[in-house]
Amino acid sequence: MRKTGLWVTWLTLFLLVLPVSAQRREIRIPDIAGYKTLKCDLHMHTVFSDGLVWPTVRVDEAWREGLDVISITDHIEYQPHKTDVPTNHNRPYDIAAGRAAGLGLLLIRGTEITRDTPPGHFNAIFLNDINPLDTKEFFDVLQAAKAQEAFVFWNHPGWKAKAGENYIADINEKVREKGLIQGVEIVNGRSYYADAHAWALKHNFTLMGNSDIHSPADNDQMQRENHRTMTLVFARGKTIEAVREALLRGRTAVYFGNTIIGKSDFLEELFEASIHVQKPYVRDKNTVSVLVTNESDIDFELQRTGKVGPTTITFPAGRSTFVKIPVDKDGRAELAYTVTNLWTAPGKGLSLSTNFYAE
Ligand SMILES: [Zn+2]
Ligand SMILES: [Zn+2]
Repeated sequence: MRKTGLWVTWLTLFLLVLPVSAQRREIRIPDIAGYKTLKCDLHMHTVFSDGLVWPTVRVDEAWREGLDVISITDHIEYQPHKTDVPTNHNRPYDIAAGRAAGLGLLLIRGTEITRDTPPGHFNAIFLNDINPLDTKEFFDVLQAAKAQEAFVFWNHPGWKAKAGENYIADINEKVREKGLIQGVEIVNGRSYYADAHAWALKHNFTLMGNSDIHSPADNDQMQRENHRTMTLVFARGKTIEAVREALLRGRTAVYFGNTIIGKSDFLEELFEASIHVQKPYVRDKNTVSVLVTNESDIDFELQRTGKVGPTTITFPAGRSTFVKIPVDKDGRAELAYTVTNLWTAPGKGLSLSTNFYAE
């Protein structure tokens, strides 16, 4: 009898933990040499600021969409629901923590420092206590974040800028000179900030991309084509400390739409871990057809930069494609391509070259 009672209790607890539709979409972006590729969204809101959902709902949504790590980053200075939901900066994390642990999701305590533009908005994550950041002077807030060894990044840098306007203001340069930020959110939702990207590369900031979701997650986001913007973090393991170490060392890439932005070595490794050339080849007189399988969620778009091979090649996600390669009499071809949807800098795709040899 007692045993049955215990089972019922466990079962009830377990069901309570499961999200309403208990299915998770696995995002197919491979691990790279020595690192786990963690799918992270480190910028989102709840009713504790200007979001429209309860903190546990953010956890369920993230789990369903295949994320591994999230941070709920409600605004310190902007709480339009505060007559209904009192100001308590640490509550979103505290409320969501149990749910995240139950679903195996890493939850990082964070917040959004919210000032007029410039300087704009900044996320501080890996905090122990958000309350000391609730202070008047902008530089005092950043110092309070630094005192807790937070990782701080500049959010949506060009959000309020007019086209062609230089939005990297003197105060942002001052923040940089004082060493008060470590990252730049070069993609926020569906907006990409090319100038901020160039600035981040120039000063070696960690590249970030996040959803900044305020509304309930749309069911469409479960589809590969409509996935939320996220930061891919190349971590030594799936722990908060490993995520922190990777962010501090700039081991990230930004995944938005059908594009990944990052340093060329990470992008090259992602491409190579996604693409498999199968044997045998089909060969006729001067050409070899090679079956290439793309096991990732990315449709890779290639543009020829060398002398031989098809002008453009697409490797659709999750499919195998025959590629016809002209070869010399020894079965060789020097191939050079740009992957136009893997960006190493604004307007610059990843360059790849290989000496192909059909045995
Ligand atoms: Zn913001
Ligand atoms: Zn925000």
